[in-house]
Order: sequence, then C-alpha cells, then structure tokens
Amino acid sequence: GGPSAGGGGPPPGGGDEDGEEMRAQMESFISETSTTWADIGGLDDVQHDLKRAVALGSVANKPEAVSATERILLFGPPGTGKTLLASAVAGSLDATFFKVELGNLLSKWYGESSKQISALFETAAELSPSVVFLDEVDSLAQSRDGDMNETSRRVLDTLLSELDGVEKGSDDFVLTLAATNTPWHLDNAIKSRFPKRIHVPLPDVDAATEIVRIHTVHGGVDFDGHPSAFLDDPQRARDADTPERAIARRCVDDGYTGRDMEALSSAAVNNMIARRNPDLAHLVDDSVKRLRSHALDVGAILPQDVTHAFATTSPSLPEEDVARFYDWNDEYGSHT
Ligand code: ADP
Repeated sequence: GGPSAGGGGPPPGGGDEDGEEMRAQMESFISETSTTWADIGGLDDVQHDLKRAVALGSVANKPEAVSATERILLFGPPGTGKTLLASAVAGSLDATFFKVELGNLLSKWYGESSKQISALFETAAELSPSVVFLDEVDSLAQSRDGDMNETSRRVLDTLLSELDGVEKGSDDFVLTLAATNTPWHLDNAIKSRFPKRIHVPLPDVDAATEIVRIHTVHGGVDFDGHPSAFLDDPQRARDADTPERAIARRCVDDGYTGRDMEALSSAAVNNMIARRNPDLAHLVDDSVKRLRSHALDVGAILPQDVTHAFATTSPSLPEEDVARFYDWNDEYGSHT
C-alpha cells in the first residue's frame, strides 16, 4: 500500500461500514492452527503429495512451465483426517488458515454468500501465504435435472471464477484445499477445477497404531499389559507386538475411522482415570478451589480400560460406504 496516515480514518465515498462488516466476517473464517505433521497418524502418501505442492508453490524461481498445484481435493469418509491435513499444511507454512464450511456459508449468509466468496479469496491473497480450506464442497452441486437454486448457482459461478483467477498474482501463495465426504455429489465444473484428487482412506494397521499413540502415549499416558490381553479374540494377535498395535488391529478389523479411534483412546484414558480416582466427583462438593492443586492419580491404561472403551464406542461408517470411496477413486482419483 501507499503512504497512509496512522489510525486510518474512513476513506471518502462511504461504504466503509460494509467493508468493515465484511472484514469482520472474513476474520471469522481465519482459524488459529498449531497442528503439525506429527499430529497425523499414517496417510504418508497424502502427506507427501501435500508437502510437494507446498514446496513447489513456495519456490519463487521456477520456469513458467513448472506450475505449482494450487488446488487439491481431499475426499474420503468423515473423520479420516482431511481437516487435520489442511491444518497441518497451514501450520507448517505458518500460513493464514481460512476454514470455510460451504454448507454453513450458504445457509447462514444466504444472499451474501457470493460476495463472501470473492472477499474470501481477496483477503487470502492479501494475507499470503494462505491456505483456503473449503469443506463440504459437494454442497454446491447441481442436481440431476439441472436445477439449482439461485443463490447456490451464483455462489458456484463466483467460486469457479475465483478458482480460475487464483494464479494471477505470482507473488501470492494461496493453496486451495477442498474436501468432501460425498465426492459422487460433486458438481462437474468443480471437479474439473481440482485435477488433483486425493483419497483419504480409513487407517490401515500401521496408521491406526500411530493414531492410538498420538491420542494416548504422546499425550503422556502409557499402556501396561501383554498385547494379547488387549484383544477380544486371540486369533487377531498375528502381528500385535505392543498394546497399541493390538488395539489398532481390532479397530481396523471393525472399520474405525481416525475420529472413532480418537474417541476410543480418550474413553480408555478416562476409564483409567475413573478407576484410579474413584472419589474425584466427591471432591467437588468439598471445595472446587482446592481441586486445582489436587494430585490426580495417573497410571497406565490396562486391558480392562480398553475392553470397556470398546464396549462404549463403535465404528461410525457402514462397510458398503467404504467401498464406494475406492470405486470413485478408481474412476476419478489421482494416483501417484
Ligand atoms: P475429516 O475432516 O476427514 O472429517 P478430521 O480431520 O476433522 O476429519 O478428523 C477428526 C478428528 O479425528 C481429528 O481432530 C483427530 O483427532 C482424529 N483423527 C482423524 N484422523 C486422524 C489421523 N490420521 N491421525 C490422528 N488423528 C486423527
């Protein structure tokens, strides 16, 4: 910008209140993130692809023919880490992280949604480097009979032209990540703007082992017991050389998502705390103030804590849905 007086009075011509309101709304899309790659279990290939996109986008000196991937679509079951990945990209870049739920934007800002989309990309370029995360990008879909309400159509058109225009400012780095749990509902025009489409699947046993660790051991709570004691069925013991791996094996067999595993892990931790601190609730009657300095009895998670956790949690996704993502990936996904 040019020289401007400190304090910044309103520019002539009015419309400033509008601008300020819009800015405030934009700021509500900006989310603080301290997520790092280490918070993500598994998904090594996806992480690698995203890191490469970030690296290529960050290098200033490159021939014109070398273009950075500035738009990536993440698709997969809910709770598999798509938002987590976007946060890690933003966190690792120290970028401004815009997190937008399109379904929410459409319903909340109804007539204003289209203006919001333009303002969003403008602000993202201003505050570069930026990561724009468009969640629920499927909510901007045209139905089969070509019928779409006026607002959605306008928002879709605006979004498409913003996506086409993102590359113009060569000094700005704006990485647009879109996510969907229902890729088969995507509008074709949107799909074509995201040639790179990455499947974020349910965790395999290695990934699941890491996810369990992230939500227990890395948070300062260990396991104690023979690995086989953490299994309901000794047949599953095959490669389970640690309690975490035994739990992971069981989660994968049952089709747990990352989010389901986080719930399971925190249930196991809570069961351990409840077991070792049976009088915790009574202390509240006593004096809440004194609780601040109360020495919580923290020990290791035992097999019984995990058994109980499995009894109170369950996989959130029907098996036939999982297959659908693989089919869509075969047809439309990027395979690197
Ligand atoms: P999505 O955006 O795919 O619906 P999220 O990224 O919001 O899912 O994941 C929800 C939560 O589940 C995360 O905050 C995290 O605690 C946990 N989670 C999911 N996938 C993973 C993973 N791969 N590693 C570690 N935690 C995970």
